[in-house]
Amino acid sequence: MSLASELAHAVHNGDRRALSKAITLVESTRVEDREPARELLSLLAPVVKPSFRVGVTGVPGAGKSTLIDALGARAIADGHRVAVLAIDPSSRESGGSVLGDKTRMVKLAPEASAFIRPSPTQGVLGGTAGRTREAILLCEAAGFDLILVETVGVGQSEERVASMVDSVLLVLLAGAGDELQAMKRGVLEAADLIALNKADGDRRAAVETEATSLRANLGISRGPETPPVLVLSALEDIGIDELWSTLESARNTAETSGNLQRRRAAQRRAWLDDALEEAVLRAFDADPTLIRAKEALLAEVESGALPAPEAAQRLVASLLARH
Ligand code: GDP
Repeated sequence: MSLASELAHAVHNGDRRALSKAITLVESTRVEDREPARELLSLLAPVVKPSFRVGVTGVPGAGKSTLIDALGARAIADGHRVAVLAIDPSSRESGGSVLGDKTRMVKLAPEASAFIRPSPTQGVLGGTAGRTREAILLCEAAGFDLILVETVGVGQSEERVASMVDSVLLVLLAGAGDELQAMKRGVLEAADLIALNKADGDRRAAVETEATSLRANLGISRGPETPPVLVLSALEDIGIDELWSTLESARNTAETSGNLQRRRAAQRRAWLDDALEEAVLRAFDADPTLIRAKEALLAEVESGALPAPEAAQRLVASLLARH
């Protein structure tokens, strides 16, 4: 049996260590891992059990990890299996990790029905997206039916998360001017559901007031598409039941109306474009003739003598001539 088929088999059986290895394989940038990674994905691609994918975004400190912990535990109590993944915008520069400190997920970490994957520290290939889509697929193949994708809300990362999930949950820090910031960054517009967190102790009333004004503002800017605004405390487990039922009913509505299927089809189209771009780039570092063709043009491109689109056109012509 090949490495890929052995792994595929173990992943299908829900083996979490095999799932970790499988994700590492698809994240790998090593040339020799490409073929087995592709084979693995093909073996596991037709996922039978439908999953629910939720993106969780918000500024650092908003309480995303705490909320994921509470929400995940709630879903497990309902019989779900929960995977937590991260899109980490900072990993490329710092080697840091959104989920670096997994000890924060005290409820989920010891659960047999949970899988927590820290974000990649190196899996990002020159300019292309990371491997979160692939990791989602692998988790689904391993039988995880709630996939929570965490990302720090600092710009482009929530656009990326939105392109991979069924719903985006924005966690806002009440009383910190976070709403205004989120509005400026356009994050508020992309959210399907907003949670005003840390509504506990003597903050509760102030958070409720803030929620009321946020609902009014959103009603003006988004009209009928206004997302639900929930007031909760991840730390004290207040409002988590309501959050879970709101998410579930949004998903059921989307499935019944066909919106879910349309959204996923559009996401897979975007995935094809990304994969195609990457496959073409890879062709240029796998074939010595093409490597030379690219190198021959590189100096001219670097000096500015040859515009990149012209060079790209010539290189594609060489690629076609090779096959
Ligand atoms: P993240 O950076 O968005 O993942 O935020 P964390 O989940 O790590 O939380 C940041 C800090 O806020 C931690 O000290 C948490 O204990 C605290 N925190 C998170 N949720 C709540 C909450 O509902 N109420 C209170 N009082 N503190 C919270």
